[in-house]
Amino acid sequence: MRVVVVGAGLAGLSCAGALQAAGHDVTVLEKARGPGGRMSTRRRDDWQGDLGAQYFTARDPEFVDTVARWEAAGVAAPWHGRLVRLQDARVTDVADGQQRWVGAPRMSAITRWLAQGLDVRASVRVTGLRRHGGGWVLDIDDGSSLDGVEQVVLAVPAPQAEPLLRPHAPSLAAAAGHARMQGCWAAIVRGLEPAPAFDAAFVVEHPLRWIARDGSKPGRGNTPIWVAHGSGAWSAARIEQQPGEVAGELAAAFQSAAGLRTPPEVLSVHRWRYSQCIEPLADGYLLDAASGIAACGDWCNGDRVEGAYLSGQKLARALSDPAQFS
Ligand SMILES: Cc1cc2nc3c(=O)[nH]c(=O)nc-3n(C[C@H](O)[C@H](O)[C@H](O)COP(=O)(O)OP(=O)(O)OC[C@H]3O[C@@H](n4cnc5c(N)ncnc54)[C@H](O)[C@@H]3O)c2cc1C
Repeated sequence: MRVVVVGAGLAGLSCAGALQAAGHDVTVLEKARGPGGRMSTRRRDDWQGDLGAQYFTARDPEFVDTVARWEAAGVAAPWHGRLVRLQDARVTDVADGQQRWVGAPRMSAITRWLAQGLDVRASVRVTGLRRHGGGWVLDIDDGSSLDGVEQVVLAVPAPQAEPLLRPHAPSLAAAAGHARMQGCWAAIVRGLEPAPAFDAAFVVEHPLRWIARDGSKPGRGNTPIWVAHGSGAWSAARIEQQPGEVAGELAAAFQSAAGLRTPPEVLSVHRWRYSQCIEPLADGYLLDAASGIAACGDWCNGDRVEGAYLSGQKLARALSDPAQFS
């Protein structure tokens, strides 16, 4: 079967890899310059920082096995940083016994590794789907199109899947419409004076919800590079602003959260228009088997890395089941 997966985030790569292993002819189209999606890392000559997912947990036995394979391949490692809760400058250690994992030497190492051996075409944005001769034609933003596609898998955030689904699979589009996602402003900073005595903090009742020393994660060389994420409400109120407009506010928020003498130097600012799903579906994936269109992603299966990976696997199994697919 000729399958096109739209989106080379974790869910899309998970689904594409499993479909290819099951013998299908799979192509992955990704609008960004490389794979990764919300597991991406920003890199420059003298610094790097994970912009999206900060760590992940593994609870489902299938995902526990998957993470063990990633660790054996050298692309994931446990993170043992000192994690605290920060409220009004009060620091409380988080002692929940939870094993936290990260990509190594950066979060994007996992998706880069999963993309190996797959036909992933970067800088290709799908703008529409059309039915043609019993199959699908995918319209691309450069004016070209891809035809002869038997199965389309949309592995993109719900608000980006919804308009592509709407003309062809209204019930799937309606389900995607229910999976509300919130935005998040992220910053990578350095120059913290005095250096905090912790490696990461859940910040409570503050414009920021999370700060973490990226350099405390395995393979990063213990650098003093930090990442900050704005809270849902704070980010939503500024989501249409430009990075340059929020950079100063993010630095000031970081200064107040961490009790710094001066604001840190902002190296990079990124807007996640769709960061995490606040009302994920419980379906695992969406599939209209008759028309050959489906969707997967964190929003179909929880709101996190584990859910995204397993959503892709579940959909691939459903598509490879001969009872559902001939
Ligand atoms: C700031 C932030 C912090 C987070 N923190 C954590 C955390 O600590 N722990 C955790 O478990 N999870 C966290 N998450 C969530 C986690 O990153 C996601 O659950 C997971 O990465 C989602 O993977 P996905 O494949 O479903 O979607 P995505 O990673 O969003 O992949 C979708 C891909 O589709 C592409 N795309 C979209 N539209 C098109 C189109 N029309 N044509 C072609 N390509 C398209 C996008 O460019 C993207 O690469 C965080 C996310 C963010 C943003």
